[in-house]
Amino acid sequence: MSNKLEGKVAIITGGASGIGEATAHHFAVHGARMIVIADIQDELGQRVVESIGSDKCSFVHCDVTDEEQVKNLVQSTVRSHGRLDIMFSNAGIFSNSAQTVLELDFAEFNRLFSVNVRGMATCVKHAARAMVEQNVRGSIVCTASTCGSSGGERDTDYFMSKHAVIGLVRSASKQLGAHGIRVNCVSPFVVGTPLLYRYLGKEAAEAEAEQLFESYTSLKGAVLKAKHVADAVVFLASQDSEFVTGHDLVVDGGFLLK
Ligand code: NAD
Repeated sequence: MSNKLEGKVAIITGGASGIGEATAHHFAVHGARMIVIADIQDELGQRVVESIGSDKCSFVHCDVTDEEQVKNLVQSTVRSHGRLDIMFSNAGIFSNSAQTVLELDFAEFNRLFSVNVRGMATCVKHAARAMVEQNVRGSIVCTASTCGSSGGERDTDYFMSKHAVIGLVRSASKQLGAHGIRVNCVSPFVVGTPLLYRYLGKEAAEAEAEQLFESYTSLKGAVLKAKHVADAVVFLASQDSEFVTGHDLVVDGGFLLK
């Protein structure tokens, strides 16, 4: 246990699975007063609540593509818990098809952008509004990706969407600094989560997925886990990063430098 997030009220979108779920557990370990899991997977979300404890964690069904639902999520959190200190805007999806430039399917492109870009901006907007209204010097953390600083041989829409997240974070941090609100993002390299297993095919197991990408990083003897990303999010959410804003914290074992 630590008290880095003592007394803090946090929302985690996409908190029912993967990086969001690991971060919810981390927030609890670091003393957060209330962690609100916002996701479209109700059963998984409830399971996270049960494992953390309903005195510290709750679930709200929220589809981040629907602004009204995001607004209600933020308002109900403030109503029930008095304030909002941390927004971890993390919900995201991956491309369903190859999405090379020559074969771009714009229906799929719009579906992905509605979650990864518009959904992300909607969460930043409503969290920031609540913080400004209540004069809370909050911390907003978004999940971008190393794909936001590189190009892809495929999955063009996903790479584009993560570049957009970094653009959102840079602009929001400039605008919200006047209110004492910090806005940053984490950019993980490949992490073994259900998102990755779906991409690789259902049969891919965690160890197999991790092995597949190990050679891409320069840091040997360590394998990227959701826990490492959660550590970075706790840093950005807490006072340990009091003077850090507009920053893209890559968690990639040196991948982008290779
Ligand atoms: P995941 O699939 O395990 O978790 C994503 C969660 O987001 C799921 O619980 C899902 O239900 C939720 N979600 C999806 N659409 C939603 C919507 N419209 N509204 C609310 N919730 C929604 O995947 P993950 O790997 O933990 O992904 C989390 C974030 O990390 C994403 O933004 C992803 O792009 C990013 N990321 C993942 C990796 C990786 O390799 N796994 C690498 C870099 C960045």
